[in-house]
This record gives sequence, structure tokens and C-alpha cells, in this order.
Amino acid sequence: MSQLQSNAAEHLIKANERWARDVIKHDPNFFKDSATYPQRPKVLWIGCSDSRVPASVVTASMPGDIFTHTNIANQFHSFDDNANSVLSFAVDPVGVKHVVLVGHSVCGGAQAAIQAAEEGPVEPHDPLTRWLVPLIQLVRTLDLHGLPENEAVDKVVEANILKQVENICLSEPIVTAWATGNNVSVHGWVYDLATGRIRELVVRSLPYVEKRTIKWFPYLVAEDPSDAEVPPNKAFTNIAAEKSRDVVDPPKKAFSYIVAEESRDVDLPKKDSPKNGPPKMESPDIEGLPKEDPLKKAL
Ligand SMILES: [Zn+2]
Repeated sequence: MSQLQSNAAEHLIKANERWARDVIKHDPNFFKDSATYPQRPKVLWIGCSDSRVPASVVTASMPGDIFTHTNIANQFHSFDDNANSVLSFAVDPVGVKHVVLVGHSVCGGAQAAIQAAEEGPVEPHDPLTRWLVPLIQLVRTLDLHGLPENEAVDKVVEANILKQVENICLSEPIVTAWATGNNVSVHGWVYDLATGRIRELVVRSLPYVEKRTIKWFPYLVAEDPSDAEVPPNKAFTNIAAEKSRDVVDPPKKAFSYIVAEESRDVDLPKKDSPKNGPPKMESPDIEGLPKEDPLKKAL
């Protein structure tokens, strides 16, 4: 057993002492400045709690560089006050300009979700299982048949990253930021444990939404494909007029707000032109599971 394993906590404190001395050698005012001035990180990292993917270490960053939130399997949900409060605070007042949602290969959360999905009905009787329910539901939408285990996990990891990026883009802090001209961008990254390298899967930002929404939000696709070629505002006008009446779920409501803000010459129905900020996202009814267990509907 290594020294680190035999007394891991003591090792960390000693390592911290050495690290702090080294930092001061390079920058005598580093800690004094950290304690004196407000933090101004440009990046919010939302990642998995896996010990093999520490944000600052794998990006060679220093304290103050990255605002961080982690959980099992790097998820972001509208009902999660923890993640939403971090995102809200990071965007305003901290002022990050990039939100990076980071998944990773060989993710234990993805493996657990695959196993749970294969085993059939899930009773979310403990916190970890409840937390994994949305990921298990996502797994059930994927075709993993015949795939080797590592490829199945990779597929779930990437699908999960794309889903969480979508969730972040539809969150109140990001909808509000984009509606007020704050071009914070949202990235989906995957970290490869085998190489230590990060790969970008997707990036979303305000210009992208203006120009490419038709592809990113499939429920806003115009019935006439030629609409995709018209200027963004005109496309929004058509789409908003056509689709706003059908808006029933939180993502569509949230996006209607962007449409209304970005298409100022459009007379949308009053219900789609909120005066007091974007509509509040509705939370999935997960309280008191299994009162209205969403999982059971899917099973
Ligand atoms: Zn993980």
C-alpha cells in the first residue's frame, strides 16, 4: 500500500503546504490578491465528480480560473437547485463567458445507468438511483443493441453530454443571458481517461441560436425547408407565429421568449411576450417519488 493510500488525508495537507510555497515563489502576491479582489473566472465547468477528471488539474489552471460544479455523471436538470444556483451565480454576477459541460470516458454513472436500464423497472428508493433516473431514461432512448460495453458507454456518455448541453441552453440563466445580449457560450466536452485529452462535441452561443436554431431545436423546424434559408429574424417570425400556439412544455416556453426578444417587429400573442423576464421553467414532478414516478410512465 502506498504512502498516499495509507494516510491520504495527511498526505494532502503536506502536499498543500508544498504547493502553496511553490506558488508564492512564482508569484509572491498570488494569495494576497486572491483574498483581496473578487473572483473573475471566465469558465464554468460542470463535470462528473469522478476523481480522475479534476477540472483545474487536467486544464493546467490556477485557483480563480474555473468556477466549478460536479455531480454524478455531469448532469444538469431544471429541478436541480444546486446546479441552477451555480449556473445563475456564475453567469451573473461572476460573469463567466463559457459554460463547459464535461463528460468523460469510462463514466461509472453511465455504466450504472446502462445496467439499470437493462434490468427493467427501477425503484428510485435511494438518492443515487433517483439521481440517475433521467440518465436511465436517456439510455432507454438509445439503440445500444450489439455494441461492446465500452462502445455502449461511449455512446451514452456522448448522448448525455448533448442532452445536458441542451438542458443548460434552456435553463433560465442562459435564456435570460441570451435574451439580454450576453453572449455566453455553452460547450459540450468529453474527456478521454486513456489519453488525458479533451474533445469538443458541440458549442452553442447566441449567434448560433440566431442563425441555426432551426437545426438545434427540432420542434421549431419549419414545415417548409426553404424557411431555413431566410434571414434569422424572418425565420423566427414564421416559426414563432406557426408554433407558439403549440407551446406546452418548458423548453418551448423558454425558447418562445428568445424568439419574442429577438424578433422585435413580431406581434406575438401576449402570453408569449413576457414583460417580467423569461417564464419560469417548470420542474419535473420528482418530489416524493414514486408519487408520480416519471420513470414508471416510461417503463
Ligand atoms: Zn463519471
